[in-house]
Amino acid sequence: MISRIKGTEDTIEESWLWEWIEGRFKEVATNFGFTQIRTPTFEATELFDRGVGNETDIVQKEMYTFEDKGGRSITLRPEGTAPVMRAFIEHNLSSKGLPQKLFYYGPMFRYEKPQSGRLREFHQFGAELIGSALPIADVFVISMAIEMLNSVGLTNFKLKINSTGDEKCRPEYVKALRNYYRDLLPKLCDDCKVRYERNVLRLLDCKKDAQYAKDAPKITDYLCSDCKAHFETLKRYLDELDIQYEVDPSIVRGLDYYTRTVFEFKYPALGAQDAIGGGGRYDKLIEELGGSKTPSVGFAFGIERIILALKMENKVPEAKGIDVYVIAVEDAQRVESLKIAKALSKFFTVDVDIMGRNLKGQFSQASKENARFVIVIGEEEIKEGLYTIKNMKTGEQKRVRFSDIIEMVKT
Ligand code: AMP
Repeated sequence: MISRIKGTEDTIEESWLWEWIEGRFKEVATNFGFTQIRTPTFEATELFDRGVGNETDIVQKEMYTFEDKGGRSITLRPEGTAPVMRAFIEHNLSSKGLPQKLFYYGPMFRYEKPQSGRLREFHQFGAELIGSALPIADVFVISMAIEMLNSVGLTNFKLKINSTGDEKCRPEYVKALRNYYRDLLPKLCDDCKVRYERNVLRLLDCKKDAQYAKDAPKITDYLCSDCKAHFETLKRYLDELDIQYEVDPSIVRGLDYYTRTVFEFKYPALGAQDAIGGGGRYDKLIEELGGSKTPSVGFAFGIERIILALKMENKVPEAKGIDVYVIAVEDAQRVESLKIAKALSKFFTVDVDIMGRNLKGQFSQASKENARFVIVIGEEEIKEGLYTIKNMKTGEQKRVRFSDIIEMVKT
């Protein structure tokens, strides 16, 4: 037997749940004026080296990179923002006017150690608001993200925010952080020893060394006046909108492109992998990828973790059954039952027996498929043009014409 690759999943009985979440998220994003962008699942490796940052864990350790038959270095996308920005530049979307509001949905690939809520192929729904440097844009996307979570019934999440400063104030902070961690180096985990050299900010969100992060210097004490003003305004807007949040100086995010605002949605009940989504401002990314200076802000949700959270909150909606199951009493009526099912399928979800089951077997199959109505087709029904329709919930039964069936099922 050939099994699936470690860290990947087959979705079989829950496909409808995925579609439902995707549908709700799309609806909210569309209502907020976002349109969908679809980019390839693989890109030139250089995009992530430059975009995500070659000192990050993602680029250093987690990318699925290979050489294709033409000798190009290709990487399966580990995240969605860099590809969307590549497309934004490549198709000169700024010429269509700013802001551009784009959402995306699809699989991402990271070679991480699989565990509950952490996969090697996982799915993100993300949104990017391209072209505004104002804190109102940050609040716009945060509000939309909250609407999305609410749209699937999630409530027990926490919004954590922070500012990571910009190119003016961050270097000073990085220096202070290095000073702080220098003496602690022998006590740090192996990963953090490397991070100390390469990307000292990431020491703050290491779970193993969290005890040391508590007393580390805080970026919020090092922000320059512009970054501070941005952060203060953001907090004021959130307060005015009654959006609950917590300032958490350990939120630095694992990607290099963030400037100023960063945020995460945590779902504490999930344990170790409790981030159900995250995002922030990336004012330099488009420039770094060769476009013109275009400040932007965005976020992405992890669908697998949203599903885990929905299950924990008992918020998974009931699987929807089919609308109508058409039963043929005798073999002679099978074709007629198919005809009726075909006609009804223009309006409803339908099914019909193709296994040669007897009357009882067809009824039990209809229950198994959670059919709302059953239509029974016998010789008399065909002759008279009157069909017996049964409401499976109430047990109520009626003989009606075909045209009445449509009205009944609709209501
Ligand atoms: P990130 O870009 O790393 O902040 O990811 C955004 C969201 O994607 C996270 O908050 C998670 O919900 C989800 N996510 C990231 N990595 C994984 C993974 N390996 N497996 C499952 N979900 C993930």
